[in-house]
Parts: sequence; C-alpha cells; structure tokens
Amino acid sequence: MAKWVRLLSRPTGASSQWHVLAIDNEFAVANALCGERLPSAVEVAPDKDRTEREGRCPKCETGLAAKESEALTGVAPRSL
Ligand SMILES: [Zn+2]
Repeated sequence: MAKWVRLLSRPTGASSQWHVLAIDNEFAVANALCGERLPSAVEVAPDKDRTEREGRCPKCETGLAAKESEALTGVAPRSL
C-alpha cells in the first residue's frame, strides 16, 4: 500500500502536491519516488480520495504505477 505524503511546511507559492514515499519507513528521512527529498515533517494522506482532489505529483504517480505492475507480475522492469 503506497503512502502519500506532502511537506508540512512549504515556501509560499510552492506546489502542495502529494508525493509517494519511496521507502515506507516513518523514521527514515525519505525520498519520494520522483526523487524529491522529504524532510521529517510530512503530512500523511488519510485517504486516496484526498490526494486525487488536491493533486498528485505526476512523476510519483507514474513511479507508483510501475511499482504496482511490478508487484502484480513479479517481473522487475528493466532499469532505464
Ligand atoms: Zn513526487
């Protein structure tokens, strides 16, 4: 199950898109799938509907789709 997060404190005008955590570990300073670095202060999405309403990072969505198809087929995609 993917975890959608977004930065708690953002500079004015910065996008408030939801990102997918690359590693599901609350204690690690994590990166998003798109490569965005996430500091410890992040907000975790309560449900998927909210991320859809408020906007998702397109790169993270693509990355998540790849991960999910990998999990379904059991075949790892070739590295790009
Ligand atoms: Zn992202």
